[in-house]
Amino acid sequence: MVCEIKTRRDRFIGFPIFTILFLSLLFSASSCEKKTQKINEEKRIKVITTLFPLYDFAKNIGKHKVDVILLLPPGIEPHSFEPKPKDILKINNADIFVYTGKFMEPWVEDILKGIGERRPLIVDSSKGIILTENGDGKNEYKTEHLKVDPHIWLDFSKAQRIVDNILNGFIEKDVENREFYLKNATKYKTRLKELDAKFEKALSLCKKETIIYGGHFAFGYLTKRYKINYLSAYKGFSPEAEPTPKDLIELINKLKEYNTNYIFYEELLNPKVAEILAKETGAKILMLHGAHNITKEDFNRNVDFISLMEHNLKNLIIGLECK
Ligand SMILES: [Zn+2]
Repeated sequence: MVCEIKTRRDRFIGFPIFTILFLSLLFSASSCEKKTQKINEEKRIKVITTLFPLYDFAKNIGKHKVDVILLLPPGIEPHSFEPKPKDILKINNADIFVYTGKFMEPWVEDILKGIGERRPLIVDSSKGIILTENGDGKNEYKTEHLKVDPHIWLDFSKAQRIVDNILNGFIEKDVENREFYLKNATKYKTRLKELDAKFEKALSLCKKETIIYGGHFAFGYLTKRYKINYLSAYKGFSPEAEPTPKDLIELINKLKEYNTNYIFYEELLNPKVAEILAKETGAKILMLHGAHNITKEDFNRNVDFISLMEHNLKNLIIGLECK
């Protein structure tokens, strides 16, 4: 009997000790996990990019080894974007800063002069890419406001070069993970090559050969690559230069001449110009996404560059009446 009572007492005393031990082990394990997570987060390369395609490319190359921030707030029109002091601070605190090039972000040169000693690695993603002036192909409008076309990401061969430039920046900053970045970049470039081939094939079978765009001159490289004629209502490389009534009348006459059934409109811009053109000519409107930036909803839905371009191709097939 005595023995039985003792055993029960032991059990009784042993229970809280065991529980305390178990809980403290659990607690130290979870705090250990938190510490490891924090160390991993601290080890990640901090990358800041200006435009959405650069953000998406950087994420695809760096995956979990990088933290990528999009400088442009979702929904903001990028050509008129000017960085605020808090943006400059963000750039200053990053390990790598990726921008499109001096024709897209002319403000970069100035802020780099004023940036502190702990400056990030600067990646000019247009390095090695030949940028052209408008008007050298079948495009009919010459720009008046900017001389050089900055929309290099919309030519998928140039986009692959952008990927390489970002990759080189990652390797320079974090050579230990060279193979990892290289493998991811190669895989992503294959996807861009496949996208290019899809565009090439689908756009070679169209009844119409002219894109009428109610936005700014963003698709010069894309249309040149696939040998499509391109007219945009805004003559410049930026939506700041709105078309005059005279420009619109000229364009409406052209649309009637081309017997256009579809007019494309731009993302993040009120489609009023495309709507006026559509109303005057009886055409329908379709979106053609320049991918400079995306809306907050698209950002939250994790929309990516390739899916935006695939959607563009669907609309181009409808608009240009391709087989
Ligand atoms: Zn643009």
